[in-house]
Amino acid sequence: MKNNLKILIAAAELTPLAKVGGLGDVVGALPKALINLGVNTRIIIPFYGLIDRNKYQIKLIKNNIGIGRQAVNLWQTILPETRIPVYLIEHGVFNGKNIYHGALADSQTDTRKFTFFSQAVLACLKATNFRPEVIHLNDWHTAAIATMVKTGGQNIKTLYTIHNLANQGVIKDKGRNLMAEGILNSGLVNTVSPTYAKEILTQEYGCGLEKILIKRKKQLYGILNGIDTDFFNPTTDKFIKRHYLVRSLAAKSANKTALQSQLGWPRDKNTTLVGLVTRFVRQKGVDLITEKFSRLNCQFIFLGTGEKKYESALLSLEKKYPDKFKVQIKFDEKLAHRIYAASDIFLIPSRFEPCGLTQMIAMRYGAVPVARLTGGLKDTVNDNNGFSFKKSNPAELYKALDQALTIFYHQPKIWRRLQLNGLKQNFSWEKSAKEYLKLYKKLLNKK
Ligand code: ADP
Repeated sequence: MKNNLKILIAAAELTPLAKVGGLGDVVGALPKALINLGVNTRIIIPFYGLIDRNKYQIKLIKNNIGIGRQAVNLWQTILPETRIPVYLIEHGVFNGKNIYHGALADSQTDTRKFTFFSQAVLACLKATNFRPEVIHLNDWHTAAIATMVKTGGQNIKTLYTIHNLANQGVIKDKGRNLMAEGILNSGLVNTVSPTYAKEILTQEYGCGLEKILIKRKKQLYGILNGIDTDFFNPTTDKFIKRHYLVRSLAAKSANKTALQSQLGWPRDKNTTLVGLVTRFVRQKGVDLITEKFSRLNCQFIFLGTGEKKYESALLSLEKKYPDKFKVQIKFDEKLAHRIYAASDIFLIPSRFEPCGLTQMIAMRYGAVPVARLTGGLKDTVNDNNGFSFKKSNPAELYKALDQALTIFYHQPKIWRRLQLNGLKQNFSWEKSAKEYLKLYKKLLNKK
């Protein structure tokens, strides 16, 4: 087996430079764990207009690299608090204020933009002295690289990771489906949890690509994401009011009363606080929370942004029941941490969930998850650390939450056991990085 493996990770997002959701978190955290395993890892992303070039000390390494009739400039920085090199490709198409043209949607502006990025990645590599053995591709944005490598005869292997099968990058006038190309043309394919890897072979979850996924079934793996356990850590978190540990869980309620007060509610440590932090889109099942939930003996705090119809439905609950619901429509990392630390219960009612990070973050903060049993939620939430429901409807979610509340109020010992079981779980990236390393090695042993 080779030691000093060279891996290039290509993606549309990278936390903290450019994040929209879980994809950015994965690309920002996996390389740190790979470096610890001795893998020579580098990252390449577009140089978006929103990336702060002074904050990250980004330096030009080569200008005017030709891509057909276009030219790009290649810049370099390091992933903060690491020595991991990050390449950034600069071109006018990446100058906009947002990473995606429409919220995660595969608009035609985006398919053009990311196909160009994919071409540029291979051209820019020639301008560096870094010769990766494997390019690790992530979602449809970088899938075209798999096709180019396959047809170009380069001596490079590709791993394609599916983070969310629902967004596919369909180029309408050319009938190209970039997600499908990634699946078919890469050396190996994986997705972000074992359960989702099985689910996507079915019509229910396959988003129309189940047949081609079945073709690659033997080369399709499921590797659960980790979370950044330094960034999400109740003993050191710089955003929260009071730090706490497994031994001092009672201090958690100081975070609850601080958040209640910040939100304009009276301080009340005895009422259960139910949190939810997510994108407000159909996938996340926020519409399962209905007016009937106002009857439950608890308070709800919802943080997120997304589609107007979901935002308005939640805001109207807040308007009607101001003592029960607080709804914050924004992206706010600090408030998110405060909600994890303050919540007794955390909701993840997703219709589908490739992996899901918020249930793991919640458990790390001693909040007990109530989750729909699907995808990565099925792999992480069980009767020992949380509550779950099977069918995606309001009544099932209501029942599961009601059950959780009964235990919270009447069986404190059982409640504490659930919290402790969640807190003790190891969601660090180390284990998953070892699984990725196995796949990289498997690729190198392939003909
Ligand atoms: P997805 O990638 O589908 O959005 P994940 O559960 O994999 O969902 O990852 C979501 C990540 O984004 C978590 O770190 C979560 O805390 C964060 N997040 C989502 N919405 C917000 C928000 N409005 N403000 C702050 N953080 C958010």
